[in-house]
Amino acid sequence: MIPLSRGPVPATADAVVIGGGINGLAVAYELAGRGLKNIVVLESRYIGSGSTGRCGGGIRAQWTTKENIRLAQESVAMYENMSAELGYQVFFRQGGYLMITENEKDLPALRDAVALQNSCGVPTEFLPPSDCRKIVPDLDVSRLVGATFCPKDGTAYPFAVVWGYARACHRRGVRIFIRTTVKEMLAQDGRMRGVVTDRGVIHAPVVVNSAGPWARHLAAQVGVSLPNRQERHEIMVSESLKPFLDPMVISITNGIYFSQSLRGEIVGGIGDPHEPHWTDPAEFDTRSQLVFAVRFARALTALYPRAAQVRMMRQWAGMYDVTPDHRPILGGVPGLEGYHHICGFSGHGFMLGPVTGRRMAEHILTGRPDEIITSLSLDRFERGDLQADAFVVG
Ligand SMILES: Cc1cc2nc3c(=O)[nH]c(=O)nc-3n(C[C@H](O)[C@H](O)[C@H](O)COP(=O)(O)OP(=O)(O)OC[C@H]3O[C@@H](n4cnc5c(N)ncnc54)[C@H](O)[C@@H]3O)c2cc1C
Repeated sequence: MIPLSRGPVPATADAVVIGGGINGLAVAYELAGRGLKNIVVLESRYIGSGSTGRCGGGIRAQWTTKENIRLAQESVAMYENMSAELGYQVFFRQGGYLMITENEKDLPALRDAVALQNSCGVPTEFLPPSDCRKIVPDLDVSRLVGATFCPKDGTAYPFAVVWGYARACHRRGVRIFIRTTVKEMLAQDGRMRGVVTDRGVIHAPVVVNSAGPWARHLAAQVGVSLPNRQERHEIMVSESLKPFLDPMVISITNGIYFSQSLRGEIVGGIGDPHEPHWTDPAEFDTRSQLVFAVRFARALTALYPRAAQVRMMRQWAGMYDVTPDHRPILGGVPGLEGYHHICGFSGHGFMLGPVTGRRMAEHILTGRPDEIITSLSLDRFERGDLQADAFVVG
């Protein structure tokens, strides 16, 4: 059982965190660990009900920009220790990530990525197609031209991670209110004053907007204009099979990814460039689509023909909160003291949540500049300081 607060919300708090996904819970946990008292997390539905509970659970340090590699590397290290840190089994398994391509033109980028990752201490290697079968024996490598593999990448169980954070938050005195929606953010004279919820007003000098795909909408209430747009992504789950697949397989050619869960299911997804983009939460549509099921099944069986005999059992959809450079937006905004956002993670917020939570907590409490937070601040879009990472998939 996750200990959740009941009854009316408190009239005051030292910090209000909006969102009970990985980002909200991680930053609340880290703030409490640094001695901040009276922290309240507000979640409009249930813990993990946003993108976090709908994600693929993938965690990798294989990126093509130094900043992304460093951030993800720190997160991998945190995931390695997470079950012990939170006192809760989060089922982090390091089966590696096999990143494959069918395009000759990707090969220089793959080789450069390996060199950069190795220079950062990430033990990635380049593999010719034939070697991919040593890692995934029945993979059809006939169309592949190469791959990279990092054995330290892996997956964790998303609900266990948020449940673990929620329990650990509780031990540190954080109060988590579910079924509590922030209706309005309150700002006056250049400072955050708190939030209005459907269960009462909370006055607080610090408000963290970690509402995932809903963050843009909330930010607009205090005059903060986020460039984020939201996109539906789906996941398909098969019947349970005997263990046959250690790594996450991911194609930078068509965006398919799949791994095998602890229950033996194939769990995977594939992006669809035809999906519409939304910015108004009222338009979010997370109904399952047949077109996704067909797209995924075709791409999976093309790569892994034995999957043609496997029954697909269920699928679900969730929202990506996408920024123009597919990198998160962290920090605050000038002229609005006490306001902070942690959002815009595209398909990578589960893997980055622990480290961005830790860095943001430190930054919020000390006010010290953090080079990663600075580089991921909202004003980078005005500065035009955008970094494209060739390993953004989906
Ligand atoms: C299909 C799919 C697959 C993915 N796969 C991966 C993956 O393999 N690896 C990876 O790293 N990332 C993956 N992602 C991305 C990842 O899920 C997200 O980046 C991450 O979960 C974002 O976490 P969050 O805490 O910021 O947001 P969320 O988990 O969405 O949490 C935000 C919470 O805020 C709550 N909320 C919203 N508005 C309000 C309000 N007004 N008041 C109170 N509460 C509010 C919502 O109910 C929600 O629970 C995937 C996403 C999807 C959809």
